[in-house]
Amino acid sequence: MRLGDAPWTAVRDALASGAPVAAILPLGAVEAHGPHLPLITDVVISDGMAARTAAMLEGQGVRAFVLPALAYAPAGYASEFAGTISIGAAAGRAVLIDIARSLKEQGFACLAFANSHFDPENVAMLREAAAEVAALGLPVAFPDFTRRALAATLTEEFQSGACHAGQFETSLVLADRPELVDAAGGKVLADNPSSLVTAFAQGATTFAEAGGPDAYFGSPSNASAAEGARSYDIMAAALAETILACLR
Ligand SMILES: [Zn+2]
Repeated sequence: MRLGDAPWTAVRDALASGAPVAAILPLGAVEAHGPHLPLITDVVISDGMAARTAAMLEGQGVRAFVLPALAYAPAGYASEFAGTISIGAAAGRAVLIDIARSLKEQGFACLAFANSHFDPENVAMLREAAAEVAALGLPVAFPDFTRRALAATLTEEFQSGACHAGQFETSLVLADRPELVDAAGGKVLADNPSSLVTAFAQGATTFAEAGGPDAYFGSPSNASAAEGARSYDIMAAALAETILACLR
């Protein structure tokens, strides 16, 4: 269930039921994603992951609310592209801690981070925030897909590091919000095999420096809604598993 769409009484009743209730926070960014995907690509992906996770949990009798997504995050690598809105890590962390405090006061049993914005500064911030929230006494479920074991469950392109607005992400947006994809435009984009992971490790500080003058990496032309649906299922299962462990 989406918390923002529910009346407050529905949340009150769920929390009063005595069974543990999880909150899932979709974490995205307002960031350039090639000429064919929307700036809110990561918001769409994280929200799609969160919604599927909540459905999986409800199927197992576990109550989970999907919170309205947090769309603003550190996104410095894309800051040279119009429309990108980057905030500092300190601001991002402060918002997360305050959201967690509010949830804990109300009696939520677990806060889950559904994240698909893999900017290194954002991921580092989320790791710190997760530790801080846990120290407040609210368990955090944060499957970090940039860690080797989880990355290995995702697509070849994702693992290659040449992955931003490419086949992986274009497929995910096609699966849930096809009306936001310039599918014809994506089909004619040449592959960009430059690895972001390698470029970041070598000190690149912008997408252009990393070899992505149009803010995409990978192979948008190979995207499909079917691949996106598969990736969603894998990510949602990982998140559901982490939440169940968090509630145990
Ligand atoms: Zn993205």
